[in-house]
Amino acid sequence: MNIGAHVRGGGKLVSSLEYGVEMGATSIQIFTQSPRMWKPSQYAPEVLAAYREAASTHPTITDTFCHATYLINLASADLDLYEKSVVCLIHNLSVARGLGSSGLVLHVGSHLGAGFDDVVRQIADAFERALAEADPTPEGVADCPILIENAAGSGGTVGRSLEEIRFLIDACNGDDRLGLCIDTQHLWASGFDYSSVAGTERLIKEIELGVGMERLRCFHLNDSKIELGGNRDRHANIGEGTIGGRGLAPLVGHPLIRNLPLILEVPGSGDGPRAEDVTVAKQVVMAGIELYDGVANWEESLPVTAAFTPPPVKSVSKTVKAPTKATAPAKATAKKEAKKSTKSTKKVAKKTTKKASSKVTKKVSATPAKKAAKSAAKKSAKKLAKKAAKKTNSKATKRAAKKLTKSAVKRTTTKAAKSAKKLAKKSVKKVATKSTKKLAKKSAKKLAKKSTKKSATKKSATKKSATKKSAKK
Ligand SMILES: [Zn+2]
Ligand SMILES: [Zn+2]
Repeated sequence: MNIGAHVRGGGKLVSSLEYGVEMGATSIQIFTQSPRMWKPSQYAPEVLAAYREAASTHPTITDTFCHATYLINLASADLDLYEKSVVCLIHNLSVARGLGSSGLVLHVGSHLGAGFDDVVRQIADAFERALAEADPTPEGVADCPILIENAAGSGGTVGRSLEEIRFLIDACNGDDRLGLCIDTQHLWASGFDYSSVAGTERLIKEIELGVGMERLRCFHLNDSKIELGGNRDRHANIGEGTIGGRGLAPLVGHPLIRNLPLILEVPGSGDGPRAEDVTVAKQVVMAGIELYDGVANWEESLPVTAAFTPPPVKSVSKTVKAPTKATAPAKATAKKEAKKSTKSTKKVAKKTTKKASSKVTKKVSATPAKKAAKSAAKKSAKKLAKKAAKKTNSKATKRAAKKLTKSAVKRTTTKAAKSAKKLAKKSVKKVATKSTKKLAKKSAKKLAKKSTKKSATKKSATKKSATKKSAKK
């Protein structure tokens, strides 16, 4: 087992190793330069050599992977951007080679709808140029491959399927300095269901018949905030997403995968992977190994946080009773769900209060611009309500959220406080467990207070925020 973590060293290379150790990781991934800037980082040869030395002699960290700059788009039709991207890739690879990295992970970019076939050649050219023009690999150091990362599949992103990646490698005549990094969240979002032994076997078959298993150098291990096939790149902490520990275990426990570096790129509590994320990942791999070892109750080894998100309630019963005999994991899940539902209720109510305010603004003087802003706000409120409903996965909450949005739209600012209170109360009734009730009540009180405050603020202020929101959209 080799759980890795993306660490932010803030440009300090050697300390990145220690950040990884502190987390309990045995591999790390770092950015070769500031990921959202073109400006290349300038490492003196001695600095690179010092890192190489520290990393290669490190007692617990086995691999350093580098992640290339996000701005790179090798599929761009804009020649300037393309050229800038190639130069940037060359620089990234120079640094990665200098660090003695095990691979430079790359998002290839997006053709923005032009079509994959049209961009294969230019991407292959970019790879060939980078491999030829980057600073050479220091003597005695293993070569650093460019690892093409699979994409979630939004907006014409290249690498949305293993087939696309195979085409790219084929276009470079199968250069063995090109490899593969599979991101579990992207794969899930691109519609590949690997969450069973059969699904994982299918994936491995596809890799074997396509680019070859020897090109698969690492995984990005992430859960997903997006459902299967949702085509968006949104990482979740392991066990807290739509895949869950139960869905990841068959993949990460597979004999051909369990020893590859599995690098966490999870949000943690906002600053990236933490020690507890590494622990949870290890537990999921252990459970997966048990699965392949034929241990009957392997699922019991999954971390509590890695329980499946409960499926949506199918019956339309209005009162949802809490289970009488709650097991410890079930209790934990219920607690989590309660937190989630409170959060989303809060969010929706917040939004609807804003929304109601914008309605008043509109009444005062309805210009076309304001109308547009209003409809944008309406849309985003609806979206939010939908999202919140999905999060809790309960039809009752969905209904409540819908109602919330609708009625709040109808009300004026003075009424907003009242309605928020009422609606929050309603939603309190709807939630299932005692703990939920407690939490929801708390937030309801807070909410009512907040919306009262809000309604007191100047109309111009609310107008501003509504316009801001719509501009963001
Ligand atoms: Zn990734
Ligand atoms: Zn991603």
